[in-house]
Amino acid sequence: MFIDSANILVRSGKGGDGCVAFHREKYVAKGGPSGGDGGNGGSVVLVADPSVETLMDFAGRHHWFAEDGQQGGSKGMTGKKGQDLEVRLPVGTLVYENPPEMLAPKEPDPDDPDRFLEEVFLTGTERAHLGQVRSPQPGEAPSGPLMVDLNEPGMRYAIAQGGRGGFGNEHFKSATNQTPREATPGEPAVEHYLRLELKLIADVGLLGKPNAGKSTFLARISAAQPKIADYPFTTLKPQLGIARLDAGRPASATSVGRRLVVADIPGLIENAHQGQGLGIRFLKHVERTRVLLHVLEIEPTDRSDPIENYRVIRNELAQHSKTLAEKPEVVVLSKQDLLGGAEDAKVAAELIREQLGVEVLTMSAATGEGVAEVLEACWRLLDGTQKQRPAWRGMDDA
Ligand code: GDP
Ligand code: MG
Repeated sequence: MFIDSANILVRSGKGGDGCVAFHREKYVAKGGPSGGDGGNGGSVVLVADPSVETLMDFAGRHHWFAEDGQQGGSKGMTGKKGQDLEVRLPVGTLVYENPPEMLAPKEPDPDDPDRFLEEVFLTGTERAHLGQVRSPQPGEAPSGPLMVDLNEPGMRYAIAQGGRGGFGNEHFKSATNQTPREATPGEPAVEHYLRLELKLIADVGLLGKPNAGKSTFLARISAAQPKIADYPFTTLKPQLGIARLDAGRPASATSVGRRLVVADIPGLIENAHQGQGLGIRFLKHVERTRVLLHVLEIEPTDRSDPIENYRVIRNELAQHSKTLAEKPEVVVLSKQDLLGGAEDAKVAAELIREQLGVEVLTMSAATGEGVAEVLEACWRLLDGTQKQRPAWRGMDDA
C-alpha cells in the first residue's frame, strides 16, 4: 500500500544530571568537588533522503526518540552524550505540528499488530502516548501549522534539540565555597507530535479525457515503471513512468541524463469532484507536478469535438485546483496515425491552434511518431519552472 501520510511523535534525549562527588584520595583528608557534568541529550534530526520514497516506515513505527544524555560521574567525568536520531524522510515531505488533543480519538483495534508490539515493548509513559499517536484517517487534516517543508535533497532540520546536561558540583567551586554540594539537573526532553505528508513528486502530469491515449503514451515513453504501491483508494492509482530524453546515451557517474517523471492521473477529471475528501487527498499528490501534458484525441472515438474536450478539461481543472490550473501546459493531438499521417495531423493542429490560441503538437503513441518532440517540449517548459530537479535516486530503471 502506498502510504502518504503518517502521525509520529519525536522526542529528543533529556540532558544527563550533573553529579555531586568529592575527590577521595589516600592521604588527602578533604578532597575538592569532583562531580562531572551530565551529557547532552541527543537531538531528533529530520533528513530529506532521496533514496526514501514513501512514508511506509512510519505507519508501523510512531515513536522516534533520541537517546538521553547520561549522568555526570565522579572524578570529573562528563556523562556520555545521547546519540542523535536521524529520521530519514522522502524529499518533498511536509512536516506539520499535530497536537493529538485536537484530533479525533482512535478507534481501539484489538487486532492491530502495532498495538501488540507497543504494549509489549513500550514503557508506561510511552504507552500513554499510544492513543495519541496513530495513523491519520483518510482526509484528516493535521491539527497544527507547517513546521518544515523538506523539499531539498539532503536538507536537515533539527526538530527537537537534545536537552543540555546539568552541571556537576565541580562547576560550583569558588573561593568562598570549596565544598559545594550543588549540581543541576539536565534539561528535559523536547517532544513534538508531527504529521508527515508526502506529495508525490512528478515532473509532468498527464491530462485528458478517458480514451485520449494517456496510458498508451506513458507505456511508450517509460524506460521504467517504478514500483508505486497501491493507492489506498483502489480505483485511483497514479501511474508513474520515467522517460529518458537522451536515449542511447548512458548515464554517467555524475549525471543520470535528462529524465522526466511522468504521472498518469486517472480519476483527476472523472472522480475528483465526487467525494471531496478523496478528491482533495488525491489532488495534493499531483499538485507538485511542474508541467501538464494535455492529450487530445485527434478524432475522438465518441465523435466529440477536440476543442470542446479541451475546454471541458480546463474547466474541471479550474474548479478543482487553482494550483494545477495555473501550471504550464503542453497540448498534443494524439493518434495522428488515424489520420493520413503527420501532414494531415499538422493541418488539424493548426486549426485547433487558431481556435484555442495555444501551441498544439501532434503524435502517435502507437507508432512513436512525434513522441520525442512532445517530451522535449515538456522539458523546455520544465526547465523554465525549476532550477533544481528533484532527486529520484533509487527510482532508476529496474
Ligand atoms: P487513456 O484512457 O487516456 O489512458 O487512453 P488509452 O491509452 O487507454 O487509449 C485508449 C484507446 O486508444 C486504446 O484502445 C488505445 O489502444 C488507443 N490508442 C492510444 N494511442 C493511440 C495511437 O496513437 N494510435 C491509435 N491508433 N490508437 C491509440
Ligand atoms: Mg488510462
